[in-house]
Amino acid sequence: MKIFDMHADIGTNILETKEKEKSENVLMERHYDKLIAGEIRWSAIACYFSGTEDWERMKKMVLTAEEEIRRSPVHPILSPCDFQSEASLNVILTVEGMCGITDQVEEKIQWLYDHGVRIASLCWNEQNALASGKDGSSLRGLSALGKRAVRKMNELNMVIDVSHANEKTFWDILETSTKPVIATHSNLRSLAAAERNLTDQQFKALAEMGGLSGLNAARNFIDSDPQNQDAAHLANHALRMKELAGIQAIGIGFDFMDFFDHHESSMGQDLSSARMAQNLIAALRAKFKEEEVERIAWRNTVDFLKRWL
Ligand SMILES: [Zn+2]
Repeated sequence: MKIFDMHADIGTNILETKEKEKSENVLMERHYDKLIAGEIRWSAIACYFSGTEDWERMKKMVLTAEEEIRRSPVHPILSPCDFQSEASLNVILTVEGMCGITDQVEEKIQWLYDHGVRIASLCWNEQNALASGKDGSSLRGLSALGKRAVRKMNELNMVIDVSHANEKTFWDILETSTKPVIATHSNLRSLAAAERNLTDQQFKALAEMGGLSGLNAARNFIDSDPQNQDAAHLANHALRMKELAGIQAIGIGFDFMDFFDHHESSMGQDLSSARMAQNLIAALRAKFKEEEVERIAWRNTVDFLKRWL
């Protein structure tokens, strides 16, 4: 079954690989075959920033990813009509963490939009000029600059991703944003204690607003017991999400990390790379009706983006 993967740090991998070795096209040479093998029809390609990068670095990574997408036989998703594409692989460019934005917030977000970015989070785990991630002060949420960023993103129809936000930032964003937001790669904390997972209350609020959350295949986000870190247990998060808020609020954001050094064992046992993506579909089929599996796999995310891009 075709899949929409809402989060993969491929944008970062493109620039880092090019800086280390000679590569004409990292997307095609290192990622394309795996994505096709996993039947990932839509991939959200994230440029990830950990909190130390400046605006120049952000621009360089986005421009490099934009250029590779342009030179590859993939279709970029820029507006709702791009979902008519019949391409085997469609990509949507995203930014994870906007630490490089410390001034001229509206102009810089406009620049990101003009270069194809359609989904972005204000912070990764760090505390930055806009917002606080899960490692920042729990008392600090969105800054005044961060509120301006939310308003600019709303104006442009750039979708806000709350996956790395701390709780205060999460609630501040929900209060400030006039449009639904998404958590591209977060499970439920009631089933796995990872801080990056959402509380039941957060997930319900996200869903009530019309947003959705993507099932994350990183092993600690699935279950704290190593025996249970697999696709079957990830499907349990989907079951509980459905109980809490309904099927329409569930998507997939695997966060595969096999292409980074030292991350070979970060993922669930049978979900080590995009090649294994269909293992989650099989696990979902054991617990859901076919029509519901399809909604989780791609339809909910496509419907959301058709409406809000
Ligand atoms: Zn992440």
